[in-house]
Amino acid sequence: MIYTLKTTKAKRGVIAIKKKYQDIKAILNEELLKYENSNIEVVEVGNHYPSGWELDTVKNATGIKIPQFELTANYGVLVLNVSTLASIYNAIKFRRPLLERYFGLSGNGVNNYNFRARVGTKISDLVKVAGGYIDEEIPKVLVLGGPMMGSNTLSDDVVINQTTTSMIVFNNEEYFEEPCIHCAACVYSCPVKIQPVQIMNALKSGDVSGLEMLEVNKCIECGLCSYVCPSKIHLTEYMRQSKRFLREKGN
Ligand code: SF4
Ligand code: SF4
Repeated sequence: MIYTLKTTKAKRGVIAIKKKYQDIKAILNEELLKYENSNIEVVEVGNHYPSGWELDTVKNATGIKIPQFELTANYGVLVLNVSTLASIYNAIKFRRPLLERYFGLSGNGVNNYNFRARVGTKISDLVKVAGGYIDEEIPKVLVLGGPMMGSNTLSDDVVINQTTTSMIVFNNEEYFEEPCIHCAACVYSCPVKIQPVQIMNALKSGDVSGLEMLEVNKCIECGLCSYVCPSKIHLTEYMRQSKRFLREKGN
């Protein structure tokens, strides 16, 4: 972060950390004592999800409100995650490009394991190293990414890249979407205040202007609407499809 502050001539650095990580906060503060004039401070943000959403983090850590679709840089803010800062450090200090990243395997269909793996490693090879799949005869659901924002993948025959973080493997339990019961839980839980259920209905009827009016492009694909839906409707997937649909229509 010190390198980044120097390069960008930023006056202040803020490390945002969830309140529940008091032990890490204490370690960071102790480390910062070694760099008295660095002008870096550690600031607590809420434990809620998605407090890692860039605009939410900036607002909670600095008080600066940035409207969606605006560049944070236009408001004097540069947001970097821990992996990026670590990569900047390795690049400047050791001239080392981003060759490796941390990758986690989790879920009930695979032996859970964390790796530091080379970019370009096949995920199927990492599964083998972890001891393979559990109950091989049961069909698997593979999710690339985290439990809330990850998306399904059909095969483990893919390589990890600079942004791949994890794969979750579920033993496939069949369940079916139930009809919407109009509980509005998806609407109340949406952090960007759009209406997932209405968007799904607009998509199903191919209503382009309805999708625009409902501002589906604001969706950050956080997964909360799917998570809270008592009818197990894959709302987040409908949001992705709706955005694709609008793009295809040139909107
Ligand atoms: S995934 Fe659902 S809850 Fe999250 S931003 Fe999109 S519509 Fe809202
Ligand atoms: S949470 Fe599910 S059941 Fe409730 S309104 Fe939304 S789509 Fe319908």
